[in-house]
Amino acid sequence: MGAGLCHEETTMKCPICKHGETKPGKASVTLERGGATLVFRNVPAEVCDNCGRRFILRK
Ligand SMILES: [Zn+2]
Repeated sequence: MGAGLCHEETTMKCPICKHGETKPGKASVTLERGGATLVFRNVPAEVCDNCGRRFILRK
């Protein structure tokens, strides 16, 4: 986005494989509530480029 002005840490080491780095991506999240299944698509997430694990960002 920017020209690298700010030192923005959007990548982090994957806590699962401790090898890959996560990158911003999208994920589908499935929640089960009282017998109903809710699916959220295109949820902002961090995706590990090594093991493919997705981490949902909660704010
Ligand atoms: Zn990983």
